[in-house]
Amino acid sequence: MRAFAGVDVGTTATKAVVINANNKILGSFVWRSGTDLASAARVVFEEAVKQAGLSPQAIQHITATGYGRHNVVFAHDARTEIGCHARGCYHYFPEAITVVDIGGQDSKIIKLDAQGRRIGFKMNRKCAAGTGAFLEEIAHKLDIPLSDLNGLARAASHTARIGSYCTVFTATEVLDRIRAGESTGDIVRGLFDSVAKRILEMDTLTGRVIMTGGVVAFNDIVAELLSARAGIEVEIAPHPQEMGAFGAALFAAESEVRKFVNS
Ligand code: ADP
Repeated sequence: MRAFAGVDVGTTATKAVVINANNKILGSFVWRSGTDLASAARVVFEEAVKQAGLSPQAIQHITATGYGRHNVVFAHDARTEIGCHARGCYHYFPEAITVVDIGGQDSKIIKLDAQGRRIGFKMNRKCAAGTGAFLEEIAHKLDIPLSDLNGLARAASHTARIGSYCTVFTATEVLDRIRAGESTGDIVRGLFDSVAKRILEMDTLTGRVIMTGGVVAFNDIVAELLSARAGIEVEIAPHPQEMGAFGAALFAAESEVRKFVNS
């Protein structure tokens, strides 16, 4: 069987996706990036291949992407995460789209025209506010498991208005308000709302709006709050956290087709 892989080494999580020649996902795996990016890449690749029921030698082409893409020493080539998220999303939504990706330490807005050409790009990487790291930090300060935040926010009856802009001040503000008796759920909902607000400060949203990344993979409320703020429908992509790795796997498959055509 012909199979291809994409490996996305993000600042927070490393992802691998294995696909067949029909672009069907055969296996995938996610692991924390940690400090040894080369090892994280190796682990996710081997686990995804195992899930696919294949051996590493069966993978014909591997494309790396993400912040640590140059640490994937076993990859055949590398692509930017912007290109891979765009490629992956356009596969599912072949029309004019705005891709909103919220990762561990940055957020991106990528605009594609109906032909899949990139016509706009904005990125926030200067400040952790509005990213996954921000949610991790606040969950830690509140002593709440990260995976409980979405449920807490969904059960809340009110969205607290969070005034602070930066992560450090937000953490202090949140703790002060909890001490003053405000509901934790309302505050967590307010934190997610502030993530949506940061996105709208970056750019306008046009066409069909598709969200990707680890934050919406585990916190679908962010898409709802963004939709409410923007007054438009906002959708979450299939397997949102693995979208970059999936896009890279699509590029890997295309490279093989090009080789075949040129030979
Ligand atoms: P990057 O590609 O930038 O490394 P991801 O798109 O993989 O980041 O998103 C990482 C973020 O996803 C984390 O910072 C965290 O907010 C969220 N996340 C990851 N795993 C979980 C989980 N089990 N529960 C809740 N949130 C999670």
